[in-house]
Amino acid sequence: MENSRRSFLKTATLLAGVAAVPVSFISREAYAAKVAKAAMQYQDSPKGTASCSSCIQFIPGKSAKADGSCKVVDGSISPKGWCLAYSAKS
Ligand code: SF4
Repeated sequence: MENSRRSFLKTATLLAGVAAVPVSFISREAYAAKVAKAAMQYQDSPKGTASCSSCIQFIPGKSAKADGSCKVVDGSISPKGWCLAYSAKS
């Protein structure tokens, strides 16, 4: 009885470990990946009144006019830019 419980616990621990590895790997990859500018139709100019500086995804540069970065789109991002993923700050 004790032996089978120990065996069950060993198997359960092993399975949990195997299942956890791919999930953590995928999550890390998903967070690290950004989308190319072209795929999001990024442009260096605003779309109407919408621009990166008022987008929730924008990470400002050293000054208000300096290029920054984006949590979604790869590369240097102009505060005056815009893309399909624009989401206004509330
Ligand atoms: S999601 Fe698009 S609009 Fe928003 S900051 Fe990034 S590039 Fe600019």
